[in-house]
Amino acid sequence: MNRPYNFSAGPAAIPEEVLQRAAAEMLDWHGSGMGVMEMSHRGKEFISIYEQAEADLRELLAVPSEFKILFMQGGGIAENAIVPLNLSRAATVDFVVTGSWSLTSRKEAAKYAAEVHTAASGEASGFTTLPDPAGWQLSRGASYLHICSNETIHGIEFHELPDLKSLGSEAPLVIDFSSHVASRPVDWGRVGLAFGGAQKNIGPAGLTMVIVREDLLGQALPACPSAFDYRVVADNQSMYNTPPTWGIYMAGLTFQWLKRQREGELTGVAAMEARNIAKARLLYDFIDASPFYLNKVAANCRSRMNVPFFLHDESRNDAFLAGAKERGLLQLKGHKSVGGMRASIYNAMPLAGVQALVDYMREFERQHA
Ligand SMILES: *Cc1c(COP(=O)(O)O)cnc(C)c1O
Repeated sequence: MNRPYNFSAGPAAIPEEVLQRAAAEMLDWHGSGMGVMEMSHRGKEFISIYEQAEADLRELLAVPSEFKILFMQGGGIAENAIVPLNLSRAATVDFVVTGSWSLTSRKEAAKYAAEVHTAASGEASGFTTLPDPAGWQLSRGASYLHICSNETIHGIEFHELPDLKSLGSEAPLVIDFSSHVASRPVDWGRVGLAFGGAQKNIGPAGLTMVIVREDLLGQALPACPSAFDYRVVADNQSMYNTPPTWGIYMAGLTFQWLKRQREGELTGVAAMEARNIAKARLLYDFIDASPFYLNKVAANCRSRMNVPFFLHDESRNDAFLAGAKERGLLQLKGHKSVGGMRASIYNAMPLAGVQALVDYMREFERQHA
């Protein structure tokens, strides 16, 4: 029996192989007589799980040696405070606002930075376009510039990260990559810090990944909690306080799964990117060709992970969702702030799942158009 296809935006589907493996190891991890949740984070068993997970993430995302990988808690929303606590130097920070998540981040940063400057915003377009980097109004000497590289709610993705140097800025780029981490390679030459919660594309909620260039450590504000000071976390291999051990273990299983993925000649994250492009194209092409469904986002910045769409006749929304559920297509209801539908098609969603959704959408259209 196949499990249903789960289109949740997060917490979201996890590869079945990962869940099976975790289930098999639940009571006794590798003959240790303990489940992972029951282990000391300082014991050799958990240390080996942690070191493997970190090494695999570094390999998968090709993280250069001058970057530290931190496994923290608090999620993306806590990072909205932790980033300015660590990097703002209580000076000016720049934001490019492209949807709900960057709006939320900007609001929180204002508690810690002397000034939060909006370098560009897509708000006038109802967050359906990305402001062209050539027109961004960067402030001189900003401590950093924040973007959300994939807006989970509005379905907008930077397909290329901005090159701030070429825009005349020395500010480090901070990216919130919560909802597309490991869906494609990262251009680390353009990034100072990347953060993301695990529960969209990596594993269970409770683990937050922070990947930060070493020269940005050690400038936290005096009020920064020690457990959230990147320097302290890095110096203690993410074990200044007890790390989210279960989340790290599950993420590690997903990293192993990612390393096994193949698409033609491609492996790992490059294979996922090719698959994600094919999945997104299948769904967007169908929506664009149909007079029954609509996606409002400009074609050049449509998210490959989160596809919000609308039925032109919104009175049919409930029937659409009920029929989807009957066919094993789960959690397609859109975010309340946007309405309509949203299909999140993270790494764990196979092409067959997107095909099943498109087949259902076609059938529903035929019955109701
Ligand atoms: C889900 C999400 C968050 C919030 O994560 P929490 O774990 O709830 O704090 C932040 N940013 C983005 C882009 C997200 O998708």
